[in-house]
Amino acid sequence: MTRLFAQYGRPEWYLLALAVVTSLFGRTVALVPPLVLGVAIDAVFVGNTTYTLPLVPAAWLPTTRIEGLWFSVALVVGALVSSVLLTWAQGVGFSLFSNRVQHRVRVDAYEAMQGLDMSFFDDKQTGQVMSILNNDVRNLKSFLNGTVGGVVQLLVTVTAIAGILVYLNAQLALVTLVAVPLLATFTVWFMRTVRPLYRTLRQSVGDLNTRIENNLAGIEVIKTSSTEGFETGRVEDASWASYLRTWAVVKLEYLYQPGMELMAGVAFAVTFVVGGLWLVTGPPGPFTGTLLVGEFVTFLFMTQRFVDPLAGAGRIVNSYENARASAERIFDLSDRPVLVGESDSPVALPRDEVAGRIEYDDVAFGYRTESPVLTGVSFTVEPGETVAFVGPTGAGKSTLAKLLLRLYDVDAGSIRVDGIDVRDLSLVDLRRAVGYVGQDVYLFDGTVRENLQYGAFDASHEEMVAAARAAEAHEFVSRLPDGYDTRIGERGVKLSGGQRQRLSIARAMLQDPAILVLDEATSSVDTETELYIQRALDALTEGRTTVVIAHRLSTVRGADLVLVLDEGGVAEHGTHDELLARPGLYATLWGIQAGDTDGLPGALLERLARRSESSADG
Ligand code: ADP
Repeated sequence: MTRLFAQYGRPEWYLLALAVVTSLFGRTVALVPPLVLGVAIDAVFVGNTTYTLPLVPAAWLPTTRIEGLWFSVALVVGALVSSVLLTWAQGVGFSLFSNRVQHRVRVDAYEAMQGLDMSFFDDKQTGQVMSILNNDVRNLKSFLNGTVGGVVQLLVTVTAIAGILVYLNAQLALVTLVAVPLLATFTVWFMRTVRPLYRTLRQSVGDLNTRIENNLAGIEVIKTSSTEGFETGRVEDASWASYLRTWAVVKLEYLYQPGMELMAGVAFAVTFVVGGLWLVTGPPGPFTGTLLVGEFVTFLFMTQRFVDPLAGAGRIVNSYENARASAERIFDLSDRPVLVGESDSPVALPRDEVAGRIEYDDVAFGYRTESPVLTGVSFTVEPGETVAFVGPTGAGKSTLAKLLLRLYDVDAGSIRVDGIDVRDLSLVDLRRAVGYVGQDVYLFDGTVRENLQYGAFDASHEEMVAAARAAEAHEFVSRLPDGYDTRIGERGVKLSGGQRQRLSIARAMLQDPAILVLDEATSSVDTETELYIQRALDALTEGRTTVVIAHRLSTVRGADLVLVLDEGGVAEHGTHDELLARPGLYATLWGIQAGDTDGLPGALLERLARRSESSADG
């Protein structure tokens, strides 16, 4: 919470200062009417004392009773008017302050989260991240807006009133003030107890968000599997868990807040009894001196104003603990170390200077918790050449390609582009040099144009159309209701799979990278679409170094180098013809794809059978 103010509050300090100062004055001014009332009773209405006010020189004060009356009225009205103005300024100050801090915290946390490496996104659930960026950030704002003002009010009121009480009657003040340490002890107990409960509550809100977010993403599967009832049940469970966590907090609140009010009430009652006895029968017990009626009325008013905010301290502490749990989650997200980050002295590789030579040198890699996925992978691709990765599912083909883009960093060995280790290259330059066309085409909600120009924001209309033509997409885009300005729905749901694929090829074409990573689609499309896509891909890979995760034999056949991956390493490599000429995994896979399983070596068939069993288990 300190960091929240130091880091995010500081740039907006003047708003906070405005709010704090106006609330200081506002609270002080609000104390004027009861003070004046007490003085007026004794000096004006009863008329047995002279008109005195704390901190005000006697020369300014009225001397006759009628003067005293008008003076009192003027003071009370003046105090009320200033109080209204100050309250307004204070509200504006706190609102602006809290909303601006919310904005900065949110954008910063988003930026930090976005910069994290893929392994974070593999583990972290989207709903949790969403709930941090939404609910937790909003929680902080409510605290800053509502509660910081409350704290100022509490401090000012309590100190000022304690001062006034002591000024009015130090002995009687002692009776009232005994409540303070009791209330403080009770508050400390509450804070300690509620803190862990708030942590689990925030977590459960994230879990619920995750559930709902997952279900929205999988709505098609839910509907086609008729699992609506099952999913409603799971959302109900998550919601109920969140309810139970909330209830645990609320139960404690309902013990704490009335407890505070009760203690404060007792303090008031005791003050009433002691003061009342004093007026009726003279100073009780150890007390000495006189107590005037007006003085006592003010005293009671002030005591009331003293205990109310003290009892309200419960709300403040509660909101503080809630905000603290949220701040922990937000800063935990911002402070995560970035494993795949920019090098300290990044080497620039301007886009038009990339030749496109790729070298993998004894590369080893494993996902954090798993055993190594790849070991000892070495190969070189010259500019403009194509390397195809083939091998059984799970052999590490995609992983090998992701390492080139630095979605993950190698554990050992190195990957070089144009002779420079990718870890030394500027990340932006690397990712501009290497284009990626994946199997799952992701399109953003927006128009065709926005999706095509994504990442190549300054491309002209003509360049975009040229890219779309080359990707065999121009024709179908032109037939859409608004052409390039047609909105294509979230994730591009309003387009067919083949259309989405061609748009993503056009997108890569427009970005014009020297190196292309291509994950060929496994799902079969109709022959005509296939033909279009193939032509689009041929146009795209023309003249670029291409790393392709190959599923089509035509691709493999055309590749300059084929790497056959199996069991964590390169089992075989060579050109298609070379590989086919010798017995091995490649010849086997080729045989299976060609529908020819006769004459396969028995050991290989056995191995493949074992693999499919174990993957079924896994
Ligand atoms: P391929 O592309 O050849 O099918 P992958 O490179 O996708 O294979 O996967 C290689 C291995 O790494 C598999 O065992 C897979 O389960 C594992 N794997 C893939 N992605 C991740 C990930 N994000 N986290 C942990 N393990 C992963």
